[in-house]
Amino acid sequence: MENTSPESPGHWLVIDLEATCCNDGQFPREEMEIIEIGAVIAEGKTLQPVDEFQIFVRPVRHTALTDFCRELTGIQQADVDSAVSFSEAMRRLTDWMAGFPDAVFCSWGAYDLRQFERDCAFHDTTWPFGDRHVNLKKRYTERFSLKRGEGFGHALSKHNLTFEGRPHRGIDDARNIVRMLPIILGR
Ligand code: AMP
Ligand code: MG
Repeated sequence: MENTSPESPGHWLVIDLEATCCNDGQFPREEMEIIEIGAVIAEGKTLQPVDEFQIFVRPVRHTALTDFCRELTGIQQADVDSAVSFSEAMRRLTDWMAGFPDAVFCSWGAYDLRQFERDCAFHDTTWPFGDRHVNLKKRYTERFSLKRGEGFGHALSKHNLTFEGRPHRGIDDARNIVRMLPIILGR
């Protein structure tokens, strides 16, 4: 069938997560929790965005965001205090994703995949993404035969694109990754 092979799925599901964090060793990486899910669906053929989803998530382990985290992401304490639980956020994400059953989960790097794995295990939540994940950073690195992975901002500017919105906000990161899809996938 046209356009439905794993290499050219009918849709791409680009996800970027933000999570609790610190820069002073206050808690270990393994205790980071998702606080924002930003997701954009891009059409497989045109790579143009066709729909998006954004939600804040209430963390349960380190409930007070660090100054560092608020400054990095722009996410405020009130945003997470009034947010839904991880399980509820995943229910809403899954409902939204059901509109695009042929979408393949992808992200810039492996971080977002690993963070979802951690949070789904911790909350005993069903895995909603199937068994396929495309690491767009790896694709980009291979396509341009780079010796080392590049930060996303650097990759954008190398291709004469400027970041739109606020870096380290999940939904803005996801939108900008979609803008890079034609470059990453070589179209
Ligand atoms: P990003 O998608 O690059 O905005 O990063 C996702 C998450 O990784 C952020 O919400 C933070 O939890 C964490 N993170 C990103 N950059 C840093 C950093 N320099 N130091 C500590 N944590 C970070
Ligand atoms: Mg981000």
